[in-house]
Amino acid sequence: MPILPGKTIGILGGGQLGRMFAIAARRMGYRVHALDPTNDCPTGQVADVEINAAYDDVEAAEKFARGVDVVTFEFENVPAQTLTAIQRLRPVHPSPQVLDTCRHRLHEKDFLSRRAFPVTQYRAVNGVEQLASAVHELGSKSILKGADFGYDGKGQVRIEHAENLEKAWRTMGRPVGVLEALVPFDKEISVICARTINGQTSCFEPGENVHVRGILDITSVPADISPRLRLAAIELATAITESLDVVGLLAVEMFVVRENLLINELAPRPHNSGHFSFDACATSQFEQQLRAVCGLPLGDAILFSPAAMANLLGDLWRDGEPDWSRALRADPRIKLHLYGKHTALPGRKMGHLTAIAPWAAEARRIAMQARSALLDERRVHP
Ligand code: AMP
Repeated sequence: MPILPGKTIGILGGGQLGRMFAIAARRMGYRVHALDPTNDCPTGQVADVEINAAYDDVEAAEKFARGVDVVTFEFENVPAQTLTAIQRLRPVHPSPQVLDTCRHRLHEKDFLSRRAFPVTQYRAVNGVEQLASAVHELGSKSILKGADFGYDGKGQVRIEHAENLEKAWRTMGRPVGVLEALVPFDKEISVICARTINGQTSCFEPGENVHVRGILDITSVPADISPRLRLAAIELATAITESLDVVGLLAVEMFVVRENLLINELAPRPHNSGHFSFDACATSQFEQQLRAVCGLPLGDAILFSPAAMANLLGDLWRDGEPDWSRALRADPRIKLHLYGKHTALPGRKMGHLTAIAPWAAEARRIAMQARSALLDERRVHP
């Protein structure tokens, strides 16, 4: 039985992904309850009810679950015992098993390689000695990543020479790590696949991603790749989504090496690289997540126009709140999204700009120009 408008969706996590999900859900007439430790969080600001509790507060999570009809999430690092308690009371989509695989790099890579999906060469490491032999096996150009609690390049150390491994291990700072061979990729792309409980799937157009210091900077669509590779990327994302039995969304980040694809990372939720869908697609990734977790048919994910998304990080707030009219004045095709976060910190995702244009490269230029206009202001009036 589908969960129809008028019912209540519970979302675990109160960040920008939950906020945009809540906007999509409320637009379709659903009610939204958000659980997050922080008061007046980005999702809470647009939800009907915000519950503030630590993620390991099982009692609060149970109370939250009793007030909703279905639970989804925008944040992976909810403790397993909290998810189990919620799952006893209400359906959780995607399932805690999917979450378990995707929030742990090693589980994720083991899952993918067991099923012969193409992943970067990797080794599990749980100490400096193991790190040394892994570096020896994979070559000195590699990346050490924490196996858990990693996002936006956090807990990652690039290894250039097989020296200073002690320091690399300390910097990584997690009990278990994954060493990956450095991939000489031509570009990075991502595909977001939605899947319903009945197995219907739908992918968004592959996006081309540029990261700066491990954080997504720009996504443009369509990605500048061959038609063959585009199809292969969509087929790969769909196959992984099916293989994991995801109900909801799965974002698949991939490296493009010539005409080959290597999977970098999975995220079982809306993804930063899919924000373009809010302004450029018939159905946004957030609405697609809503439809999937409510047992409704998926919408058409068709891209209405080439587009680009530029992230707005907290660094932009260095001299106070930017003058947003500068970005909007730069081009009428610019859309401004702000997440309502109270504190701007360097590297923190505070909002994004989306531009549409007849070509992806043009959309990228417009988005970057509008973002630079915010910085120019600083230079003129420091
Ligand atoms: P991740 O948090 O694993 O998605 O990594 C953040 C970014 O670091 C990626 O989007 C890449 O730009 C870069 N990166 C991560 N792993 C590798 C790798 N094995 N080879 C080359 N670049 C990488």
